[in-house]
Amino acid sequence: MAANQSVENAVSENLLRWIRPEIKQLAAYHVADASGLIKLDAMENPYSLPPDLQQALQQRLASAALNRYPDPAATKLTDRLKQTMQVPDGQAVMLGNGSDELIQMLAMAVAQKGACLMSFEPGFVMYRMIAEFTGIDYVGLPLTDDFQLDMAATRKAIDKHQPAIIFIAYPNNPSANLFEHNAIKEILAIAPGLVVVDEAYHPFAQTSFMSSLPGHENLLVMRTVSKLGLAGLRLGLLCGRPAIINEIDKVRLPYNINVLTQTAAVFMLENMAVLEQQAALIREQRSVVFEDMKKFKGLAVFPSQANFILFRVLEKSADAVFESIKNDGVLIKNMRADTGPLKNCLRVTIGTPEENRAFLAALEKALL
Ligand SMILES: *Cc1c(COP(=O)(O)O)cnc(C)c1O
Repeated sequence: MAANQSVENAVSENLLRWIRPEIKQLAAYHVADASGLIKLDAMENPYSLPPDLQQALQQRLASAALNRYPDPAATKLTDRLKQTMQVPDGQAVMLGNGSDELIQMLAMAVAQKGACLMSFEPGFVMYRMIAEFTGIDYVGLPLTDDFQLDMAATRKAIDKHQPAIIFIAYPNNPSANLFEHNAIKEILAIAPGLVVVDEAYHPFAQTSFMSSLPGHENLLVMRTVSKLGLAGLRLGLLCGRPAIINEIDKVRLPYNINVLTQTAAVFMLENMAVLEQQAALIREQRSVVFEDMKKFKGLAVFPSQANFILFRVLEKSADAVFESIKNDGVLIKNMRADTGPLKNCLRVTIGTPEENRAFLAALEKALL
């Protein structure tokens, strides 16, 4: 959103003093303009729905009661999700307007004075941002050079900071790898507070802590339908013991999942096979792209269990390679790091075979 700088719309510093200083210091979340470009920057599923399914969906949506408030508990959708996502019996599920909103509700629910929200870096930026929005102390623990959990440092930090909540992305974004299963088990055992395993990329990793829910009272498993192919719906789910979910649910605004999202999501879950096929195609293409990228000299390509690949440009500037690829019509993500673990790194989302070929050709040219 461009700030309007014209004189008549100017606002005095005196008025802006009412905005919390830590908010004023923040940079707004930047979404790149992708118009006219092949969009491989945001972990979206590249496939649209087959025409017959589009039509059936249209009919279902046309009958949705837009004049009524949505079902506040989204019962039908929640039941479907429990089934599809294999939530163990006895566990509760709450829904968010994207898992981003669930992260926000979790942070709001635990953000008392002195409380700490912990996560790992490089990691999903929303954990840190939402910690800042809600005023909870944030501790980001560095991962090892190969993007694994540094357990010696993690044990110490948990002991020192006594985090109210720990977020673990599984697989991690932006590194695309899975952390060691046993390391997460240890965190579950030593954490004094809640541990959220964020499984946004589950369709591509196909491994999960969902079935571990009954064994750990402090475990919460978060999923989203975004990376599965429904990013536009904005729907995430949080699973865990009813006694915890019921508390988090108190900060949820009553109608956070709108009528169109509830209707469309139920429809899509009835037709889950289509999305599962698309995820299988993406997993297949992931290895095609990975193997091809490994052949390029001057790149370090990191293994992926997600629908994107992180890679480091070794001999050129990542900025130049990013711009060159963009000039050839493909938008990927520039991690914009001059130092640290993401130094000179770029991230590409797996697209259709045709999109991936365009990316690989543009990459090859950029590295010449
Ligand atoms: C993309 C992503 C999310 C956000 O998902 P939404 O449901 O679209 O808000 C959550 N966690 C991780 C790790 C992600 O990469």
